[in-house]
Amino acid sequence: MSVLELNGVSKVYGDGPAEVRALHEVSLTVDEGELVAVMGPSGSGKSTLLTIAGTLEAPSAGEVVIAGAAVTGMSRNDRARLRRRSIGYVFQNFNLLAGLTAAENVALPLELDGVPAKVAREAGVQALEELGLRERSGSFPDELSGGERQRVAIARAVVGDRRLLLADEPSGALDSANGEAVMRLIRTACRRGVAGVVVTHDAQLASWADRVVFLRDGRVVDQTAPAAGPESLIAPGR
Ligand code: ADP
Repeated sequence: MSVLELNGVSKVYGDGPAEVRALHEVSLTVDEGELVAVMGPSGSGKSTLLTIAGTLEAPSAGEVVIAGAAVTGMSRNDRARLRRRSIGYVFQNFNLLAGLTAAENVALPLELDGVPAKVAREAGVQALEELGLRERSGSFPDELSGGERQRVAIARAVVGDRRLLLADEPSGALDSANGEAVMRLIRTACRRGVAGVVVTHDAQLASWADRVVFLRDGRVVDQTAPAAGPESLIAPGR
């Protein structure tokens, strides 16, 4: 079943001579359990695509469907609920709150959604455990390494019953070993049924995806199933 559908999505910023066509009739479907990497030169529309898929901005034309529900026409409240409950975001700079422990950071989206603090905290610790960070639950962000902070950010993005994971250069600030680790973790989250879209510049990291979508000047110019990536070596026949 598809979790994310973009149908003929266009995005125009500004108007008149200042008009920028950031996306031009982009169509993309991402199924449950599928990981899609988005690549393309700077300015090709990658961030815009992610922002629209995350319902943080509306397209100028076309349709966005998330978990079967058309986003266009939803009330602001319904869109906010969809973002709170169904979509996880991983930002390049982690965006962890310094005054909260790892477990509290991960639990925050659930707490904001009204889940009782104790239940949210347990879910937070469990998400950290799945990413191999249980023993760091009580640590504050500045006590964690860059790779650990990114794992906390991924745990926060998949905590609860999230369906769609969106990541913008999730390995941007990490060395290559940690970058690979992050992609492996996102891959693992997707295998549990989450649909993932990851923007990356790095072809090696993109090879962890099931599919790579190439953007140029706001258009999808190519879609490929990558050559057997590192994942195939450890999990043949995925
Ligand atoms: P990428 O992520 O591939 O670098 P972006 O999606 O950030 O590309 O940008 C695509 C195009 O849209 C660029 O020309 C960029 O300058 C323009 N753009 C992006 N966001 C805005 C905005 N808020 N206002 C005006 N132009 C924008």
